[in-house]
Amino acid sequence: MTALSKLIGVSPYNKQGMPFEDRYSRQVLFPGIGQAGQNKLRLARVAVVGSGAIGTCVSGLLARAGVGCLRIIDRDFVEPSNLQRQSLFDEADAQDSLPKAVAAARKIAAFNSEVQVEAEVADVTPDNITSLLSGWDLILDATDNFETRYLINDFAVENGKPWIYAGAIAAYAVTMNVIPGETACLACVFPEPPGGMLETCDTAGILNTAVNLVGSIQATEALKFLTGSRDRLRRTLLSFDLWGNHRSEVAADRPRAGCQPCGRREFIHLAGHGRPHITLCGRNSVQIHERHRPVDFAEMSGRLQPHGSVKHNDFVLKFWHDPYELTLFPDGRAIIKGTTDTALARSLYARYVGN
Ligand SMILES: [Zn+2]
Repeated sequence: MTALSKLIGVSPYNKQGMPFEDRYSRQVLFPGIGQAGQNKLRLARVAVVGSGAIGTCVSGLLARAGVGCLRIIDRDFVEPSNLQRQSLFDEADAQDSLPKAVAAARKIAAFNSEVQVEAEVADVTPDNITSLLSGWDLILDATDNFETRYLINDFAVENGKPWIYAGAIAAYAVTMNVIPGETACLACVFPEPPGGMLETCDTAGILNTAVNLVGSIQATEALKFLTGSRDRLRRTLLSFDLWGNHRSEVAADRPRAGCQPCGRREFIHLAGHGRPHITLCGRNSVQIHERHRPVDFAEMSGRLQPHGSVKHNDFVLKFWHDPYELTLFPDGRAIIKGTTDTALARSLYARYVGN
């Protein structure tokens, strides 16, 4: 330990005893950040909702950039088909069906142990959004569905909390900064969530390059916000078609008069209690929130053994009963793969997990 670091009580070495004093030196050299900006990043608290393609990109970039505290929220577990674009995961994570939030936090700890990461294995709902997102400086959308985005928008507008929308599908990427009271919100630009059958990454495919493009833009806007360069924040809805070589930008620099959340202060998505079972990202699967009490995986394993194959670790229990695959989380939440029929999923849940 150097005399100076002893004096200020900070070790210049990481956990493995390597010197990491100049970890951020190249970023500090950039005039937009500087030492003052770097100090602000160290004190910043950012919540990332979703830890899939965009989530792992943006969490990885912000952790490497030195954002002091990240909360990573995700309801899902790692699968082999994620590895093409979800940059914080490896084959062992998919093998172990690790929850994405946990796998992401472990990977970040391996390359920047100075960052505090809170992994939350949860689905963001009207019931828990306040406890999950209160007290964070900035919310980054890295979800795969508009139900959650409109919920985040309601929460953010009601609480005057900035958030950044980002999405990618096929070769297409889109992003928008929402600063409540200053810029347009999601409902200003799109008053209604898109209806009908939406293309998803499971039906239209996705290029990892589109993900990394939009994740990089979202992370850069986050850095501007967190270091106090608010005048540099983009105030447009920006989209790219990387394969077709198109780029478009639509002004989103002020709230729309009469907007339901911004103008009329009506937060219908936040008030949405008793939401229906959710069909996940076109993946031929249904998510069920049936009960809110802990499940004993060892006991449940024994009970399911006669009905199919079953395995579990500390985070998930998986049960296969052809053609269905049931993934159960410790709070009783389940993802049932092999159907999009919510009634069937509910009955499978009742039969194997219980009412
Ligand atoms: Zn609005």
